[in-house]
Amino acid sequence: MKEQLSIIPKPAAIKYGEGFFKSGGIPSVIKKECDPKQIALDKDGEISLKSHEGYRLIIEKDRITAEAASKTGMHNVMETFRQLTLSEFKDGVLTLPCAEITDYPRFSWRGLMLDCSRYFYSVPFIKNLLDVLSLHHINRFHWHLTDDQGWRFKVNEYPLLTEIGSLRKNYRIPDLPPSGGFYSDDEIREVIDYAALRHIEVIPEVDLPGHASAILASYPELGCTGGPYEVEERFGIFEDVLCAGNGKIFDLLEKVLNTVTRLFPSKWVHIGGDEVLYNRWEACPKCQSRLKELGLKKSSELQSWITFKLANMLAERGKIAIGWDEILEDTERFKLPKETVVMSWRGDEGGIKASRLGHYVIMSPCTCGCYLDYRQFDNREEPGALYAKAATVCDSYSMDPVSASMNKEDAKFVIGGQGNLWSEWIYAGKIAQYMIFPRLCAIAESVWSAKEIKDFNDFEKRLTVHRQRLDNLGINQYRGPLR
Ligand SMILES: [Zn+2]
Repeated sequence: MKEQLSIIPKPAAIKYGEGFFKSGGIPSVIKKECDPKQIALDKDGEISLKSHEGYRLIIEKDRITAEAASKTGMHNVMETFRQLTLSEFKDGVLTLPCAEITDYPRFSWRGLMLDCSRYFYSVPFIKNLLDVLSLHHINRFHWHLTDDQGWRFKVNEYPLLTEIGSLRKNYRIPDLPPSGGFYSDDEIREVIDYAALRHIEVIPEVDLPGHASAILASYPELGCTGGPYEVEERFGIFEDVLCAGNGKIFDLLEKVLNTVTRLFPSKWVHIGGDEVLYNRWEACPKCQSRLKELGLKKSSELQSWITFKLANMLAERGKIAIGWDEILEDTERFKLPKETVVMSWRGDEGGIKASRLGHYVIMSPCTCGCYLDYRQFDNREEPGALYAKAATVCDSYSMDPVSASMNKEDAKFVIGGQGNLWSEWIYAGKIAQYMIFPRLCAIAESVWSAKEIKDFNDFEKRLTVHRQRLDNLGINQYRGPLR
């Protein structure tokens, strides 16, 4: 019997007592509401505002008590208890060392992004994933629903987005029928409800104005050249984007945002904004006359104009826009609305710049182990993106959402971090699990646990126990070198 409770992410404090709790079967836990002040351990006596998510788990010889100040806190403590039952329930007996665990998160945004455009993951797969995310106190599911390779939800006024835009031809094996699909309104609600029961908020992403091949294949008149366009089977960055000079794009975007607002209760909507090429805009008479009309100098400024309009359209619907860090560029004329949240992905620079401009920031830098499509070890036999260097479990563990070059003021704007699974290289749910675990366990600790208590050697030890839990849940996990 191990003395240590190998919980991931590492709790704020564990005080071990004398003896063990033992019971045949899984016992019921006594649940108690408590004062949030009880679950704040800040050394300087300051009570953490995040502690409404906190909890206390008290294991005594004859009983187990869970205390929390909110439903979310109670959910978190029960997930920690579930971890213990998944690893310490053996031969019909649960054996736990007596201990008092006090715990609360460092950040409020603890996320995972899943790209369901490049690969169309099924609803049962997503639900199973949400269940395991919750076990790690991950509380945001960022659902990447549109890209060049497929549009994944129905917009009633624009039926071709799914009739054409959700399917792509297979050029390598022409005998195969087009593949893809989309989530029905009922399926989207099913995912949101399933997530909500696990205290996970679902944030949809509609990637605009680039990565738009699926939109353009459905409505070619919205592109600068008029097409023809195809839903992309290739991967990369494509020059065909929404035509900034065509006012009709906003008719479509209005309806898209109405649909998203109707389906998703989250206050945030991710509008993408990454990897937009400007050569079509430069060659397009409509885009160039828009540029003149707005008094702009560079085509790239048209993107900040579109972002500005999207952020305001969302604000009118009571929503807050999130965008990839490119949305910070060329914003002299059309300033990024203050409430817009920036997701820093190309490194931490975007996050630092955004925080200094007073935007809330979510860190998911591809340079710090947050890109889960990268191989976990530098070896050609490992699945994952061949163009990038490996991102090890240790890299994911080393990720600190508050970058070393941020000062105290900047750090206040960092609301958390997340891992991103792009799916160009990940063509099956079982491979997705392999790419996510155990790196997500490391990221969970980077966004939940206080920096001072993190220690990779200690994490490695806890992970050997935690792996049994993932095995018991039927999760396919990577088992190679961790650094
Ligand atoms: Zn144009």
